[in-house]
Amino acid sequence: MTDARTERRYEPASATPQGLFLLVLNAGALAAGAGAVSFYVQSKNAGAAPFTAEILGTGALLLAGATALSAARGNAVRVGPAGIAFEKGDLLRVPWHGLSRVQVEGAVLRIEGVSSFGGAVNETCSLHTHRDAAAAIVAEVVARVPAVLVGAAPESLVPRAEAGEAIALEALQIAGKRCAASGKPLAFESDGVACERCERVYAKGAKPAVCACGGALT
Ligand SMILES: [Zn+2]
Repeated sequence: MTDARTERRYEPASATPQGLFLLVLNAGALAAGAGAVSFYVQSKNAGAAPFTAEILGTGALLLAGATALSAARGNAVRVGPAGIAFEKGDLLRVPWHGLSRVQVEGAVLRIEGVSSFGGAVNETCSLHTHRDAAAAIVAEVVARVPAVLVGAAPESLVPRAEAGEAIALEALQIAGKRCAASGKPLAFESDGVACERCERVYAKGAKPAVCACGGALT
């Protein structure tokens, strides 16, 4: 498991070699520039620069290609004690106790569950561009909530401790949450205890000996 209240942030590795991306981007910019010059010449002399439209079109196409290559990289993913978080503009976080299914499907790791805001989550993590994040997720799932892992993950999917960057997490808040056993709202931090594995929260009076994830509650 990771250290208490820090998580690791994994940037996607580019599936496209950076050189190809820059080549397409530069070619697009050059063609667009040449097209603009050509357009200017044509505006002065209607017979000149007959391929203006083609050059401008090629430039636009190449620039669109560069945008698509850049978008295919995907979002950064965070993994830590608070669960899995997808950086999709806002942070879409699935706590470990919110996971319902984690499974390797071909070249992706599929993650299903309920987010910290109660919405359904169905995300994938590429085993190519997000290999370190996928490996970290599988390792944490095995340690924390093994029941949600469906099938086996490839043995080659091994987490690397040095991958990603460490990010500080806020302390787990109990006040304002509901007891996972009784449904009772917890008004104060001292009213409840949290499972160290999945971060389910229980009222002190209603806590079972064993959490729903299988972890012992102390
Ligand atoms: Zn638990």
